[in-house]
Amino acid sequence: MLYENLGINEQGHLTIGGLDAVDLAKEFGAPLYVLDEDKVRANCRTYVQALADYMPAGSYPLFAGKALCFKGLYPVLEEEGMGADVVSPGEIYTALAGGFPPERLYFHGNNKTDEDIQYALDSGVGHFIVDNHQELDKLDQYAGERGIRQKVLLRVTPGIDPHTLQAINTGRIDCQFGVPIETGQAARFVKAAVEKKNLDLLGFHSHIGSQIFEAEPFCDAVDILLDFAEQIRKGLGFTVRVLNLGGGFGVRYQESDPQVDIPGNIQALAEHLKAGCAAKDYPVPQILLEPGRSIVANAGVTLYEVGGVKTIEGYRSYITVNGGMTDNPRYALYRSPYTVLPASRMNDPRDFLCTVAGRCCESGDLIQENIQMPLAQRGDLIAVLTTGAYNFTMSSNYNRLCRPALVMLHEGKARLAVRRQTFEDLVACDL
Ligand SMILES: *Cc1c(COP(=O)(O)O)cnc(C)c1O
Repeated sequence: MLYENLGINEQGHLTIGGLDAVDLAKEFGAPLYVLDEDKVRANCRTYVQALADYMPAGSYPLFAGKALCFKGLYPVLEEEGMGADVVSPGEIYTALAGGFPPERLYFHGNNKTDEDIQYALDSGVGHFIVDNHQELDKLDQYAGERGIRQKVLLRVTPGIDPHTLQAINTGRIDCQFGVPIETGQAARFVKAAVEKKNLDLLGFHSHIGSQIFEAEPFCDAVDILLDFAEQIRKGLGFTVRVLNLGGGFGVRYQESDPQVDIPGNIQALAEHLKAGCAAKDYPVPQILLEPGRSIVANAGVTLYEVGGVKTIEGYRSYITVNGGMTDNPRYALYRSPYTVLPASRMNDPRDFLCTVAGRCCESGDLIQENIQMPLAQRGDLIAVLTTGAYNFTMSSNYNRLCRPALVMLHEGKARLAVRRQTFEDLVACDL
């Protein structure tokens, strides 16, 4: 199996964290998001430990909330010693509602409105990652009005292509996030920030992309950032204390995907960073990483009930399930690969070539195409693995489908963390 927390019990059912998937669906309904909290915790510890082991004191990981965001996750992150990225006032609100300490929040976004900036300042958000000059000016003004000296990092683009999908590749120069180094604009951005009375510039942020499997693209980013830091030190006398290298380590969606050695990569990155700093006689900055996917993706499983099987003679066969692009739009958006399992008949031969389709009125609403499954029957349970990231947070009410519930598994017990939406929820904002 793809992960060690999955198994098969005597009834031939899939187990997740030791719990029977069929029982979970009976108790909480389907579709259902299942999140193995123990696996989330283990993933957090891998990062926290590796950063503590290899990077300068004060280095730590921030969880990127865009990957998964609901109240009940934040106590887990806090207990595991994580910081957290937030990209909107809604994410700030959720983190604080979950009891997360505001000083460990890092506020991202390429278009923070005046309301967003003031809300974040009034909430005590510890750090802003400033994307552009307009934001810099407004943040300085609003911080001044409140008598605050706000800690900031500046988002810069190192111009690196980590060879991933274009749509999730943000380190290139030509993108809407941050300010490019290569064109000289980032140097002017730093100068403007240093001159702001109400801002305390700590350093830089860069995010080069997603689904990265080795340290090399991060090392390349470090080279560019250190050259830039050295140029800035000479020009402005400003020394970088914090480098935030963004998120992006990959996860295995299928057996054929490589395993990422996160501690090994962080160690390699640390050695590269220290050597680079030594060569320039530059003090080694604290390192922040922003893993999203690699903290939660492999802890999540989505359970669906099968509605039926349809064979288009001479073409192909479909298994339809009672969810789809409303709870997981990633196949429709990016043709993302997933591993799909017959959760209620794990031991049956998988001799039926089929495409798993959702229930939305949209021909692109597919979960996965051309996979081998046992011939399904109405009422069977299907599990899609590695759905802990960018599923719940990208879900919608398209076709007025209710969003599924989310259960967290901890030490062999399941607890409801997000209840299933009701029809009343669907019309709650309708006047
Ligand atoms: C998306 C994103 C992340 C998280 O990326 P993952 O691939 O989920 O690890 C971190 N930081 C920033 C700025 C992002 O945009």
